[in-house]
Amino acid sequence: MEELLADYIVIGSGPAGRQAAIQAAKLGKTVIVVEKGPHPGGASLNLGTIPSKSLREAIIDLTDFHQRSFYGKDHPEKEISINDLNYRLNIVLDGRRQILLDQFEKNKIILLFGVARFVDPYHMEVFDDKGSIIYKVRGDYFLIASGSRPRNPLHVPFDNEVVLDSTRLLSIDHVPKTLLVLGGGIVGSEYASFFAALGTEVTVVDKRDHMLPQLDVEIGTHLQKALTSIGLKMIGRKELESIKRVGNHAEVHFKDGTKLEAEMLLYALGREANVEHLNIEKAGIGLDSMGYIPVNALFQTIIPHIYAAGDVIGGPALASTSMEQGRLAARHAFGVQTHHFPTFYPIGIYTIPEISSCGYTEEELKELGFRYEIGRAHYYEIARSLIAGNDPGLFKILFHADTLEILGIHIIGRAATELIHIGQIAMSFNARIDYFIDQVFNYPTYAEGYRIAALNGFNKVKHKK
Ligand SMILES: Cc1cc2nc3c(=O)[nH]c(=O)nc-3n(C[C@H](O)[C@H](O)[C@H](O)COP(=O)(O)OP(=O)(O)OC[C@H]3O[C@@H](n4cnc5c(N)ncnc54)[C@H](O)[C@@H]3O)c2cc1C
Repeated sequence: MEELLADYIVIGSGPAGRQAAIQAAKLGKTVIVVEKGPHPGGASLNLGTIPSKSLREAIIDLTDFHQRSFYGKDHPEKEISINDLNYRLNIVLDGRRQILLDQFEKNKIILLFGVARFVDPYHMEVFDDKGSIIYKVRGDYFLIASGSRPRNPLHVPFDNEVVLDSTRLLSIDHVPKTLLVLGGGIVGSEYASFFAALGTEVTVVDKRDHMLPQLDVEIGTHLQKALTSIGLKMIGRKELESIKRVGNHAEVHFKDGTKLEAEMLLYALGREANVEHLNIEKAGIGLDSMGYIPVNALFQTIIPHIYAAGDVIGGPALASTSMEQGRLAARHAFGVQTHHFPTFYPIGIYTIPEISSCGYTEEELKELGFRYEIGRAHYYEIARSLIAGNDPGLFKILFHADTLEILGIHIIGRAATELIHIGQIAMSFNARIDYFIDQVFNYPTYAEGYRIAALNGFNKVKHKK
């Protein structure tokens, strides 16, 4: 079999692999991407980010979610089926996959379908699902961007109908009347809120006492209230004992002797790195205690010409951060001047309502001993929000009480994941809170919340002086 040669071999076509491959191609390098899945785009495009956000959008539109404050909770009265939701999802997935294939073609990136495994630090074999070797490749530089998958412990009886993880959830054939979500992390909380908005009776169970504990506490409290108002129930401080499928429903027993049942169960307790097929030991690479590939700040593994990026190196495990890690890894490999991964970057959580933040939480500022002040704008103060449906929401801007420098921005409510970038950019220029006061904002817009929050915060400091 003839060996294929390339300057750069990328394993995985998710956000990290795709961005790295395109960056290397733009630098004039020959690039091979090896992809195990049937489609390009990784978990992000096929099983995670894009499907979940397409479902979210479909649910919001089909339930007229944002119109409820005007026309009542039961408007529209129609029943929404899984086919209604999947119709939109499939159009989005087909569109995004085609764009990715076009990008690869335009940049002369060779995409090989198959499972890649190292033979030694410079050679890989690619095999098909029967275990036959279909390609042999040799590269000067490598990027491992093999991503992650839901953790599937052996004691959980997963199927594709009742006991689900975030991947299996995408193939359910009807909308459940009741859903039990184990795990109040990002994936669990997002899906829990989507189904609650659809009208499913949703219960989230976690061993911590509230969902998304990484949030600024005030934002977390706001979220909990908003979710309760759409019927979602959260039960904290519960430790799992066992999960069973009994007939057509799931039964979960907890260590305190209690039991919960639901038509479907979403097990959302963590993910694990895709490393099992890679033979990374043949390349001289090991794993850390959590099963991730250790890298330095430049995304190099212990073998300097082999890089790793994205979920396979552990947190933050987002498509957004994975893309930038991949791009930076490729730039470093080919000697292009580059910057380090930014200290502050936004986190977007697409619960309904959505949340986004950048910088410190109030709790972190307290712990670090900062003298800080807070500016707030509630969504009911923002004209655009009232016009668009009066959904609950809050801007919270934390800034230094003496220098007025912005230290953290937290937004919960409609458009939060878009709005955060205004604050992120201001923070990257070390802006002070009065920057937002001195600018004219379009009116009526959600962005005006920055100005209202800034005025609120600035007045507190002024009065103190
Ligand atoms: C339900 C859900 C919702 C999410 N929502 C968001 C969101 O809204 N925003 C956000 O930023 N992030 C979100 N994420 C996280 C995001 O999907 C991941 O962080 C992102 O996909 C990681 O990208 P990656 O390139 O590292 O890996 P992946 O996207 O996992 O891609 C890795 C690819 O490598 C392939 N591969 C693995 N092993 C091999 C091998 N040996 N040979 C060849 N190919 C191989 C896999 O088939 C896969 O296609 C979400 C995740 C989930 C599960």
